[in-house]
Amino acid sequence: MVLVGGGHAMLPSLQAARQWTDAGHEVTLVNPGRFLYYSGMVPEYLGGVYREEDVRIDLQALCATANVRFVEARAAALDAKRQRVQAGGTWLPYDLAALDIGAVPPGRPQTALPTKPLHGLQALAASVQAVLHDARTTRHLVMVGAGAAGVELTLNLSARLHRAGKASQMKLTLVDQADRVLPRFPVGASRYAARMLRQRGVRLHLGTTVSPPRPDEGALRVALSGAAEDLVVDDVVWATGATAPPLLQDSGLPCTANGFVRVDPQLQVHGHPAVFAAGDCAKVEGYADLARIGVHAVKQGPVLRDNITHALHERKDTARKTFRPYPVAPLILSTGTPRGLWIAGPLWIAGTPMLRLKHYVDRSWIQSYQPSDTPARGLDLWDARAPLPKALPSAVQHAPVSA
Ligand SMILES: Cc1cc2nc3c(=O)[nH]c(=O)nc-3n(C[C@H](O)[C@H](O)[C@H](O)COP(=O)(O)OP(=O)(O)OC[C@H]3O[C@@H](n4cnc5c(N)ncnc54)[C@H](O)[C@@H]3O)c2cc1C
Repeated sequence: MVLVGGGHAMLPSLQAARQWTDAGHEVTLVNPGRFLYYSGMVPEYLGGVYREEDVRIDLQALCATANVRFVEARAAALDAKRQRVQAGGTWLPYDLAALDIGAVPPGRPQTALPTKPLHGLQALAASVQAVLHDARTTRHLVMVGAGAAGVELTLNLSARLHRAGKASQMKLTLVDQADRVLPRFPVGASRYAARMLRQRGVRLHLGTTVSPPRPDEGALRVALSGAAEDLVVDDVVWATGATAPPLLQDSGLPCTANGFVRVDPQLQVHGHPAVFAAGDCAKVEGYADLARIGVHAVKQGPVLRDNITHALHERKDTARKTFRPYPVAPLILSTGTPRGLWIAGPLWIAGTPMLRLKHYVDRSWIQSYQPSDTPARGLDLWDARAPLPKALPSAVQHAPVSA
């Protein structure tokens, strides 16, 4: 079996893989990096609330525990007809494959940093470190996209710079073609976030489009629509949402018009019983408007695991599991303050209990994928240092709050 992409939805399968390898199955994971960064905690990692090791999951270690071969490479191609995946310069044949390769920000030029996969943000972390540790370093960052990811990242970065007295050393500019930040969320939440951003000196350019950044003498030059002059900046982050990775369309697997692989609610690819897909890269039949968010990827994880087990055992006596999304998937955005911004459909509320709940759920979720000798520590600035209780109420463990 070849597992392609160690994303949020793949984690339960990796944890269960020991039973598959013990039964004699050969399992390989192909993933371009050793670590998976947990999206729920990455903005606060950049905001200085968590350390890097608090927010990442060691895929290689999970593989070692389960006797799974780890190939640290990007799958370059998948040939569904011949049942093989190309990675690391060779073709890996499979009897069964599972895909969880996430999504990529649409239209991202090579000169801009991606928000997906999340390890792409490491270069941004390095920029922030340079400013924090050197009084002479100045940077100008442009965040393209004022959706949940772009806003949460900018809120956390701006708060960190202010706390450290470094706001004047790092200019932050947030651009979106929509006329308000968080355009898909309630207007009140949007105003709340915009006010915080402005108070921290973030320049908002709304109703504005951005040209692809052009390298210019060690910097980047970007043109904003309606502006007389280009901006000359140091980093551009592309947080424009989610589009399908190109690998899928060339694979011979059935895809939607915009390139996502089509699966049934059991996460099996249409017409290809040997291939499963989950998370952002998959389009689940029957759910036209399902947002590409970690909450759904995380919920698909156990379904993927159980249906792979079912397929490996060729069991006819038990039914396969079916993915059913949460009717409403609330999000909690961290703001760089002790207050979290909780949003569910048309409702929103900001407050300290929201951030505490987010910390609690995030830390308990990631703890379940970290080695047992790694204490789940957050350098929590907001008085949430207390260790997690040993057992969490199951309703809290599975709350669809953040991923
Ligand atoms: C800054 C930010 C904050 C977010 N916050 C939230 C939040 O609070 N709540 C929420 O619900 N959602 C959030 N999201 C969205 C969330 O990150 C995604 O929906 C989620 O990560 C999708 O998980 P996944 O399992 O589909 O794949 P991912 O977790 O994205 O993982 C995909 C994996 O596949 C690997 N991969 C990619 N291409 C290949 C290839 N060709 N070959 C092999 N491996 C490959 C990648 O390296 C990665 O390890 C956030 C996103 C961002 C950018």
